[in-house]
Amino acid sequence: MTYVCSTCGNTVSQQDVDTSGDIFRCPECVRSGKTIKWPGVRVGSELLGKAPIPERLRQMSIGYLKSAQALCFDLGEHPAHLDWPRACVTYFCLYHAVELFLKACIPLREPNEKLHHSVSKLQDRYCEIYPGIKDIVHIETPWDLDLEGWVDVEEWEHHTDQVYRYMSGKNATSPRSIHAFSPGMCLFMCERLEGEMEDVWKAVSKL
Ligand SMILES: [Zn+2]
Repeated sequence: MTYVCSTCGNTVSQQDVDTSGDIFRCPECVRSGKTIKWPGVRVGSELLGKAPIPERLRQMSIGYLKSAQALCFDLGEHPAHLDWPRACVTYFCLYHAVELFLKACIPLREPNEKLHHSVSKLQDRYCEIYPGIKDIVHIETPWDLDLEGWVDVEEWEHHTDQVYRYMSGKNATSPRSIHAFSPGMCLFMCERLEGEMEDVWKAVSKL
């Protein structure tokens, strides 16, 4: 069996390959100290894989939220990086964080419920399942309202995750709506949501 050296791309035989780091390396690269950035910095999936589903989804939602924050920092500190595709990706992380968080809350009460991608529909379901606390602890997002029938847009634009992931639909139409993104505003929203999610999770876990 042969391996490919991760740093130089040369093939290396099984007896010569160095696997002591995170990567496969040939003897020359080991000798010259050539390696990847941040050697030894890594994480595995074992711990998250063992968590119960609602807790797993909640932790995934925090992963997307923290990633949205990191992207906001990059775009705010380096405005030259800012364009609409990157704005979309940042918004998608935030949107998906909210989607996953609501998907974590709902099965605490309704473990067998089949869930969809719409944050506004998930918010409605959260309110139905937690009528006693919904007014005190809830998360507020720009996507809480379902615009179906209210705004004249292309069909695919009603699916916010589709807009952020593809900026297009199954047909070749251009979007009719215009969106805006500012890294500072998005970061502010991420931080507020992080606090709201903490409060909601404490409340729904106690019930
Ligand atoms: Zn090499």
